[in-house]
Amino acid sequence: MRIQAVDVTVHPQTPNPNPIRDALQALPGAGAVRVAVTSDDGITGAGEAGFGRIAGAPAALAALIEHELKPLVLGQSLAFIRQIHQEMLRETEYHGAPGLAMFGIAALDTALWDCLGKTLRVPCWQLWGRVHERIRAYAMVGWLNYSDAEVQAICLKAVEQGFRAVKIKVGYPTLAQDLHRIQVVRDAVGDEVAIMVDANQSLTTAEAVRRGRAFEQAGVVWWEEPIPADDIDGYAELAHALDMPVATGENLYTPADFARFLRRDAVDIIQPDLRRAGGPTALLQIGLLADAHRRPYASHGGGPVQLNIMACLPNAYYLETGLLKPGSPLTLADGFVQVPSGPGFSWGASPAPEAEWTWQTPTPSASQA
Ligand SMILES: [Mg+2]
Repeated sequence: MRIQAVDVTVHPQTPNPNPIRDALQALPGAGAVRVAVTSDDGITGAGEAGFGRIAGAPAALAALIEHELKPLVLGQSLAFIRQIHQEMLRETEYHGAPGLAMFGIAALDTALWDCLGKTLRVPCWQLWGRVHERIRAYAMVGWLNYSDAEVQAICLKAVEQGFRAVKIKVGYPTLAQDLHRIQVVRDAVGDEVAIMVDANQSLTTAEAVRRGRAFEQAGVVWWEEPIPADDIDGYAELAHALDMPVATGENLYTPADFARFLRRDAVDIIQPDLRRAGGPTALLQIGLLADAHRRPYASHGGGPVQLNIMACLPNAYYLETGLLKPGSPLTLADGFVQVPSGPGFSWGASPAPEAEWTWQTPTPSASQA
């Protein structure tokens, strides 16, 4: 159960010449960094951090992992993943763990849990204790640069695939344009499909209150990131002023950030991002913290890692995903997806019930003693 190898690879992506856009940015895609940790049992676990933009980011992150984080992970036991997480935070604190370093910590943390699950031949949710076997999902499909006809077509496609909720971008120059967009989507999907809206930090607090009151009347389910992510005073004011739930968290770092927002009643629905929050270790902590505050957890981004975590959270609310591509492992029924059954964070089938494994009591390494 000791890590013998850490392999870091860069997977560049040709930028999309016609990128999707939200109210903050264009997202042409910038590739990903993948990490693979291999134990002395010969088991490999995988983790990844992808970038929607910033062409140089994957190479910069790969260097950070190679030179700063990999030396901390080599030789460590899979029995002490939370401790390894602490050591990575402590090591990068000198220049700041929130930011690029956190993407690397998250990728390695993911790989370590994946490796432990595969070593024990169980899904990661079995390591933490499952609550749900299926999770409600929505499709984030309504990008700001789509025409009305395009957004109607893609929202309809999502409904045809089995989604019962869609999210669209707003934050156009005027409230009237935002309301027009919501109406266009409502006309396409009907009254039974939930609609969420996301302004990607683009408004002032006063404008977010004004638009939020109008969105409440339009039956929108949640109002996501209307103002800058770090404006805790603004979020507290907004959440107090509106009846509709205010959702945020994809640009917060660490459980401590979420604790501050929860303590101030500055968020109604938390939306942690696997990379920025710091990996599964942090997501689990954030999710349970929010549960204690009676706040629902909606993922930022989907995939097997978020599903394994949400399976263990009493307050799991919605998984975010895009339109399902051909061959997607996600299967939708009544708007819900099944949680993965494969070992670690894999999608596949669980091992046969008769499969056996032997627990060996771990011994701390010198650095852990
Ligand atoms: Mg968002």
